[in-house]
Amino acid sequence: MKRFDISILLVLFALVFTALSCTEKDPAWLAYNKSTAKQTDRPSSGGGIIEEDDDPDPGIPDPGEDPEPEPDPDPDPDPDPDPDPQEPEWPVDNHWFQTRGVVLTWEDVQTLDWIALAKTCGINTFSVNNFPSIGGKAWKEYVANCTKNGIRICYEDHMGSQLIPRSLFKNHPEYFRMNESGVRTDDVNFCVTNPEVQQRVYDNAIELGKAYAPTNHRYYFWGDDFGKKCHCPNCKQYTDVEQWLIVENIVIDALRTIDDKAMLAHLLYDNTMQSPSTKVLPHEGIFLQFAPIHRKWNYPISNSSVQGGAGQTHGYMTNCLKEHLRIFPAETCEVLEYWLDVTMSSGWQKPVKKIAQWYPSVYQQDIAYYASLGIRHIVTYGMWIGGQYYQSFGDIQFVKDYGNGLLNYTK
Ligand SMILES: [Zn+2]
Repeated sequence: MKRFDISILLVLFALVFTALSCTEKDPAWLAYNKSTAKQTDRPSSGGGIIEEDDDPDPGIPDPGEDPEPEPDPDPDPDPDPDPDPQEPEWPVDNHWFQTRGVVLTWEDVQTLDWIALAKTCGINTFSVNNFPSIGGKAWKEYVANCTKNGIRICYEDHMGSQLIPRSLFKNHPEYFRMNESGVRTDDVNFCVTNPEVQQRVYDNAIELGKAYAPTNHRYYFWGDDFGKKCHCPNCKQYTDVEQWLIVENIVIDALRTIDDKAMLAHLLYDNTMQSPSTKVLPHEGIFLQFAPIHRKWNYPISNSSVQGGAGQTHGYMTNCLKEHLRIFPAETCEVLEYWLDVTMSSGWQKPVKKIAQWYPSVYQQDIAYYASLGIRHIVTYGMWIGGQYYQSFGDIQFVKDYGNGLLNYTK
């Protein structure tokens, strides 16, 4: 009888322990089903982002599904006639700034030999937006050409509407964010605590991660630009920065099923330039990204009293950065700057105007400040520095000064 009692106690203890472990790993808002979603990592018959109700009950696994992968009855020694390029072996970089990057458009790299330009000044990373067909032949050829020339490729962009396409609003308004007036709207972002939304985010992150596969394992799934948060009863307790961290945790879990070295950016920018999340903790693989879009570029970012846009001073922005660096490691943190952003100089409207944020001495002070915080990854927007810019202004020395500044920086 006594042994029986002890057995029951042991079983009860084990059950309670298991329940507590699961709760810690998977808090209530994390409702997506990882095991089910992993099954989407098979060749997709539909091919691509899940928009319509092709999977009306995505959270429930098929009871007939065999959890063990079945052996391939007819193994093909060369099943992929167009294999992805082998993982590049990047040379050891002894410079302080490991990432010396530029965000460009497809038109920029088609009309100006950015690869040759980068090689003259140590720029080693491109993020190229506006591809005619991401993941298509042109993308693969360009990635291969960059890799051959020592340039890493990633894709930095706002992805909220790609993770949850706006076309779902008609049949599923509950997928989308509730505004301050209590009305569901498909303007930006989505309802991050909705379990079906979380499942779709997981599934679509895998498809997008395959299409936009970076060669440096650094992924970027930012919320919609100048996006707002969901105010529904389940979401409103979370800040903007917490709501997107909920999404990022799902995305990194998804990406790790296709790339075990995947890392995902947690963006401090505009409305997410806030104090760190307290209700949601980052999953392994999430790195901090700081994009001070509201700063002034004619004063160093370290000049804390400078008043920028949206009511944010330089001091406010750098305090946000420093608070987050208590949670996120500095050595993986990336600064995304605007020193070379011609789209910003042009008011995001053509015709292209001359670069307006390039102040060489401020730039030098900025990179020294970022380095003083332990930051070793720097990227700047350089969009619209292409053939048209060169024809109009004839001088792109500032690009070389930017690259050389990072390349030659010593701490
Ligand atoms: Zn919500």
